Amino acid sequence: MAKVEYNKNKCIGQGNCVAASPFYFTLDEFNKAVLAHSVKKENDVFIADIKEDKLNDVIEAAKQCPVNAIRVFDEKEDIVSVNVKTDKVEEIKAEYNDLKEFVMDKKGYFLIRVNKEKQRVEVGHCGSLNKVDIMVYGTVPIEIYMTIIKKGLVENMGHAAYLGREIEKACLALKNNLEYIQDDELDIKN
Ligand code: SF4
Repeated sequence: MAKVEYNKNKCIGQGNCVAASPFYFTLDEFNKAVLAHSVKKENDVFIADIKEDKLNDVIEAAKQCPVNAIRVFDEKEDIVSVNVKTDKVEEIKAEYNDLKEFVMDKKGYFLIRVNKEKQRVEVGHCGSLNKVDIMVYGTVPIEIYMTIIKKGLVENMGHAAYLGREIEKACLALKNNLEYIQDDELDIKN
């Protein structure tokens, strides 16, 4: 029997899944999807068997989810909810030279650190040289970088991508008690 797996932690609401598969999905009072007829697999992950006549709806719900919170597996445990067309794809080799192509963001730059005492990642915005004017803190990457974007503290797309990468690394370091140094590789071997 096909199964659906739902990761509540990824859900951002909106309810595309509810529209596609109301038998399996509803929204709770926090605007998070709830998977009906499910059992808890781990933490925020729930799993349910799919009735045969509801399979297409659930696959559609998975395809409509913008954050891939829903996955559908067939009897062989292969994922069946991803339907990506890969013919006629233009392949481009990734190339970038930081020394030659780096462009400073007009809005300033960020100093990022892990505060182990307070168990949070702190991202300080500097509008001028080494003067932190705003500090955004948190433990969930998307919450931190989206707060920064909503506050209009970043303008350059490359800078936004850099920020996402560094915040993800810092949160990973906090979670796994690793040392975080901005711009250095995370040492995950020890
Ligand atoms: S479509 Fe995805 S993000 Fe939207 S409510 Fe459903 S599970 Fe959540």
